[in-house]
Amino acid sequence: MKKIELHVHLDGSVRPSTVAELLGISDDEAKKNMIVSYDNKNLEEYLTKFDLPLKVMQTKSNLRRIAKELALDLVEDGVIYAEVRFAPFFHTKQGLSLNEVVSSVLEGIKEVKKIKINLILCMMRGASYEDNLKTILVAKEFLNNGVVGLDLAGDEHKYKTSSYKDLFLIAKKEKIPFTIHAGEADGAKSVMDAISFGAKRIGHGIRILDSDLAINEVIKNGITLEVCPTSNVDTKVVSSYENHPVKKMYDKKIKITINTDDRTVSNVTLSSEYKKLKTHFNFTRNDLLKMNLNAVDASFMSVEEKKKYIKILKDEKILFKKGKDL
Ligand SMILES: [Zn+2]
Repeated sequence: MKKIELHVHLDGSVRPSTVAELLGISDDEAKKNMIVSYDNKNLEEYLTKFDLPLKVMQTKSNLRRIAKELALDLVEDGVIYAEVRFAPFFHTKQGLSLNEVVSSVLEGIKEVKKIKINLILCMMRGASYEDNLKTILVAKEFLNNGVVGLDLAGDEHKYKTSSYKDLFLIAKKEKIPFTIHAGEADGAKSVMDAISFGAKRIGHGIRILDSDLAINEVIKNGITLEVCPTSNVDTKVVSSYENHPVKKMYDKKIKITINTDDRTVSNVTLSSEYKKLKTHFNFTRNDLLKMNLNAVDASFMSVEEKKKYIKILKDEKILFKKGKDL
C-alpha cells in the first residue's frame, strides 16, 4: 500500500548499523543504545536514545549518508511522500553552520528519486530563544526549496507550549507553516495553546481526549493530528497498544494520520504500524487510505503536488477494488 508520512524524525530513524560502523562499535551495542527497551520509563528516557546517533550526525558526509539511508528505508516501506524533521542546531557541534546542515540533509534525500521528501525544521523545548530563532531564519532561507515548515519538539512536560508563543508569532509573520508536538507528555491545554498560535497540525495530540473542549476545538478548526501509536506506548503516554485512543479519535471524526515518529528508537515501520492497527482495532484498508488522504491534505506541499498525490492514492484504490495484486 502506498503511504504518506508526515511525522518522522531523522535522528530517531538512523540505521544502527551505520552508527556502529561510524563509531567503530558492534551492531548490538548500537542497537542497545538506540532502540527503546520494554522497561523504558517515560519520554525523558526515550529521548536519551538520540544521544548516540547525534554523535555521528555532525559532518556533511555523515548527514548526507544518513538522510539518504532514511529515504531508501522509506521507499522500502512503501512511502511515496514524507516530511522528515530534525533540529538543525543539534548538528553544529563540530562547526557546521545551520545552512550546511540543512544543505547536507537535502543533498542526501535528493539522491533517492523514488520518493519526494520535504523537511520540517524543529525548534526545541528547553533550547535558548536565540537558537530557536536561528532555526526559524534557516527555515525561511530554504522555504519551498526543500524545507516546508517548522516544529517544536522535546520535553513537553518540563517546557510548556505556552512559553513559545513569541517564536510562533514570528513564524506566522514569515508565513512559514508549522506543526507543534503537543498533547503527548502534557495535556489538552498544550494542544489548545498550539492551536491558538495558528498550528494547523499537531504532533500526537492524543491527550485531547481528556477534554471535550479541546476535541471540539480540533474538529472545528480542521486540525490534523499526527498520531504515532507505537511511540506513545514506548514513552508510556498510553499503557498499552490496546489502550491507545487512535480508534476513538477516528470514530469521533477527528482528522488523524498515522506515523512512526522514530523508526529506529521504536523499532517500527509504517507497514508494521498499519498491521498492528488492523490487528488491534480492525482498521480496514479504506480507513488507512482515508488517513493517507488526510495526510496529503494536511501536508505542507503545494496545491499542485497535493492533487498529484491524491490521484496516486485514489488510482491505487481503484486497482485494489479490481482485485489487482498490489
Ligand atoms: Zn515526534
